[in-house]
Amino acid sequence: MPRGTPSFSITTMPTVTVTRRLRFNAAHRLHNPALSDQENADLFEKCNNPNWHGHNYVLEVAVEGPIDERTGYVIDLSVLKSIVQHEVIDRVDHRNLNVDVEFMRGVNPTAENIVVACWRVLERHVAPGRLRRLRLWETENNYVEYERG
Ligand SMILES: [Zn+2]
Repeated sequence: MPRGTPSFSITTMPTVTVTRRLRFNAAHRLHNPALSDQENADLFEKCNNPNWHGHNYVLEVAVEGPIDERTGYVIDLSVLKSIVQHEVIDRVDHRNLNVDVEFMRGVNPTAENIVVACWRVLERHVAPGRLRRLRLWETENNYVEYERG
């Protein structure tokens, strides 16, 4: 093996997952128009408040891929931060998820639905890495995850 060549061959290049955490604040109202007002109030409780309310969300974006031989990175985490900032955070931060966000149009903004919408927005932007997992914290105690199957 020539001097200076990494000790991994292409076929054994390890796949690694790297994660960036970003935060945003947004308002929402959970409401299913197929249900009565009382059913919505019983189901969604304070998240059904007619005049909205807010959450301090935390979004963790995990990208997997081989380690790039030149950089030693899967993806530069500052690049990943810029992608998520531009594609998601700038579009949701201090917005109303029910009415202000194009990629949430017509979606009941539960954490589950938000995380799937974010996946669809981000998926094509992290190449040559691949989106591995999104974790969205809605409160200090509650988070949802969406993963590559
Ligand atoms: Zn809520």
